[in-house]
Formats: sequence, C-alpha cells, structure tokens
Amino acid sequence: MENNSRSSRNRRSRRRKKSNKTAILLIVALVLILAIAAGVFLQPYIPGLRAEETTPETTTEEITEAPTTEPETTTVETTPETTPETTPETTEETTPQVTFLYTMTDVNVRISPDPESEILAALPADTELEVVSEYDSEWTEVKYEDGTGFVVTEYLTADKDWRAHMTSKNGYTDGSFITLDPSWKYADYSEIHSGSAVMYLASENRKNIIVGVNAGHGTKGGSEKSTYSHPDKTGKVTGGTNAYGAVMSMCVSSGMTFEDGTPESVITLKEAQILKDMLLNDGYDVLMIRIGEDVQLDNLARTVICNNVADCHIAIHWDGDGLDYDKGVFYCAVPDPLKNMEPVASTWKKSEELGQSLIDALSAQKTKIFVKGTMDMDLTQTSYSSVPSVDIELGNQSSKTDDETLTKLATGLLAGINTYYGFNEEAAE
Ligand SMILES: [Zn+2]
Repeated sequence: MENNSRSSRNRRSRRRKKSNKTAILLIVALVLILAIAAGVFLQPYIPGLRAEETTPETTTEEITEAPTTEPETTTVETTPETTPETTPETTEETTPQVTFLYTMTDVNVRISPDPESEILAALPADTELEVVSEYDSEWTEVKYEDGTGFVVTEYLTADKDWRAHMTSKNGYTDGSFITLDPSWKYADYSEIHSGSAVMYLASENRKNIIVGVNAGHGTKGGSEKSTYSHPDKTGKVTGGTNAYGAVMSMCVSSGMTFEDGTPESVITLKEAQILKDMLLNDGYDVLMIRIGEDVQLDNLARTVICNNVADCHIAIHWDGDGLDYDKGVFYCAVPDPLKNMEPVASTWKKSEELGQSLIDALSAQKTKIFVKGTMDMDLTQTSYSSVPSVDIELGNQSSKTDDETLTKLATGLLAGINTYYGFNEEAAE
C-alpha cells in the first residue's frame, strides 16, 4: 500500500513538473514579447520625455540669460554715451567755480596734514583761502603761494560773513539781550526781572564756554523787595546782609561804599567789564548780567538766567566788613546745612572747585587772600544755582580799586577760570 501510494505520488509529481515547465516557458515568452513591445513602443517616448524635461530647463536658462544680458548691454551702451556727456559738463562747471574758505581765527598753514609738520605761514582771522582739496575730515588743502598747504578744517568757514552769523552754542547771537524766561525753573520765585542780560561772543579762539559775569548790586529798588531765601522756603542758615533764619531775603542789596565814597556797584561793574574783555580775548563767550549802572534783575533772576544760559556764574563783590585795612580775597562757600537741598546738593562741589581755582590763581599772582580764601555764606545765588556758581569777594571797602589793581584781579580770575576748564596746561605749552 505504501509503495502504490508512493508510485502514484511520483507520477503526479512528474506530471506537475511537466506542466510547471510549460508555465515557465510561457512566462519567459510573455516577458520577451513584453520586453520587445516595450522596446518598440516606449523607446520613442523616452527621448520625448527627456526633451520635455530639458525644454523648460533650456527655456528658463534662456529667460534668465536674456534679462541679465539685456541690462548689461544697456549699461554698456549708456555708459559710453553718458560719460562723455557729463564729464565735460562737470569739469566745465567746477573749473571756474573755485571754493574759497575763510579763517575764523589765527591759523597755521602747514606743509603736510600733520600738527607736528612745518608751519609755512600763520594767518590771521578772515583770511580768504582757495581750496585745493578736502584732504580728510580734519585737514583742508589750500593754495599757498606757488604751492599748497594744509589747514585744520574746523577753523575754516564758507561763510564770509561768519562773524555776523556766529552764535553761542545755545544759539544766542553776539550782543543779544536775554530776559528771564518764565518757564525756567525757579523763575517764578523772582520779583524783579524786567531787565535783560547781554551775550557777548568771542570772535577768535572760540572755546564754546559761556561764563556768566555778574557785576554785584546795581538794581534800583532791589532792597525794597524780597524773594525766598531758599527754593524750599526755609530760613537763612547764616547771618549777613539778611539775618540768620530769614525766610525772605532782599532781592538785591545796594552794596557797600568804598572808603573814597565810590559805591560797590560801580567798581563791580568796572571789574566785570575788564574781565569780560579778557574772557572774550581768551575765546570764552560772556553772559553779562549787568552792563550799566542799573539792571532790573534780582539775584534770583540773575541766577536763573545763568542756570539756563551760561556754563558757570561768577558774581563780583567787595565785602562791607567795616575794617580799615584790606583783608584780602575770598569766595562764599555753601554752608553745610544747605548741602542736601537741591539744587545746591548737585552743584556745591563744582562751585567750590571753581571758587578754589579762582583763589589759587589769585594767590599765585600774589593777591592777598583772606585766611584760607573761603567763608561759609548762605546766599540766594548759590541756593538756586544749578551751574557752578561763585560769589567772589575781591577785598573790602579798604581795598585798592585803581585800574592796575582791577586788571590784576581780572587776570587772576581768568587764570582761575582757565584752570577750572582745563586750559592752563595748554597755555603753558
Ligand atoms: Zn557785594
């Protein structure tokens, strides 16, 4: 049974093998037919497909190439057209249009653009110079004799009438009158302010620093009105013209009288005018609080104007102490109890530095100094000052007030101001 079944199984498998072989042959034949068919029918489409793929490639290439070359050729075309047109035009215009600049101070013409180089000439202000080139941001090359030289550009201007158009750094012209602006801080504390201060501008060696010069006293009716001693309406912490504890202080006192009968206000004005001229010569702009016998500006208005217009405030006084000998110069320092009150708190150190600079310079030129050159004094001026502010007492009623003395004092004050602003080292060179 086993054998039979085995033999029949073998036969069946042999038959299956036979039919498998025919199936494989059929499949191979079909594959071959399909392969040939595919070869015949698909082949022509393959390059077609490739062509379709490459066509947009070449199209975009053509498109991108086309606009790139078009503007290129346009500029190439226009450049030679416009260049010969504009070049002769501009050269025609600039050749006769020579640029002239004017010196605004004494300037050196140097052989090369170097502050250490040889000086060809020292020219005064208002010299007309023909520009050769703007060498760099610092130097301008100018015609000088048969050749050229170099001048520092900041000393030159194209404005021939520059003196008339000159202003201070805050926009005031020479000789302009400055009144108390009611919007300025503490302006509403002032009682007398119908007068005006005057701005003077240095014409040469400009430092762009405005010194407020306040000739003490000289306000008619100033002792009949009063203002708050302090911005916080507290009382005076020292006695003086106004009593200790006084909440209100005289707007402007009349000042003392010299032994020869001259009012203090006359000498303070004289001294202020000498100092003004020296400051202007040295390149400072000067805000003169008073230029005549009288100015209707109280101490508060004088201070507020200086706060808003000047870089510092120097009030000139002589002390009325009743002594029959010249006690010497000192400045009024802020008393300690006021050093926490604004604007004093933010200002007093700078004020003392300025005051000390003035005393040191006066001392250096052998002017007599009172003790250490300072006395604590509660003043309206320093109580409201927001710029470095000094009341300098240049002596007392026994001091000499001749021109030579006043000039010597002004020389000392100028030297002190120069020290404060760091100009003395430059002057020593
Ligand atoms: Zn005085």
